[in-house]
Amino acid sequence: MLTVAPKLPGTDGRKMSKSYGNTILLTDPETVVRQKLKTMVTDPARVRRSDPGNPDVCPVGDLHKIFSDRATMDKVNAGCRSAGIGCIECKGWAADALVQLLNPMQERRKKFEENPRLAWDILEAGTERARKAAAETMDDVRHAMGMSQAYEPTGGER
Ligand code: SF4
Repeated sequence: MLTVAPKLPGTDGRKMSKSYGNTILLTDPETVVRQKLKTMVTDPARVRRSDPGNPDVCPVGDLHKIFSDRATMDKVNAGCRSAGIGCIECKGWAADALVQLLNPMQERRKKFEENPRLAWDILEAGTERARKAAAETMDDVRHAMGMSQAYEPTGGER
């Protein structure tokens, strides 16, 4: 509610959800992203190319707000409201922004799929850091409660 783009719209304009079948997936290749954008709903006021629209009521406009840079957003705002651009052109810019975001993620994913050990190494290093942080916190807790630093639960043999 408090952000410029409080919801991520799906290709049919409703909230993006797998159960609606309106998603753009992080794993979608560029061709699929562009195809999905092409069929995305727009501001219904733009029936003809010459009809002005409003990016604030258009799901593609919402995508721009989330993923496009300021310069593109300015072109969308001016072009849509004056009917200076067509929706196909505008959707192409939204697809560009998405592809630019998704490509590096997909490249990284490919690297981990080719060598899963890399992902396990990251998880194990994270586990070790978390274990250390938890041990330090437990030391603080025991100290604050006046318990022996050497206290270890014995599993009920007391
Ligand atoms: S020009 Fe862009 S923002 Fe305007 S209605 Fe078409 S797709 Fe939506």
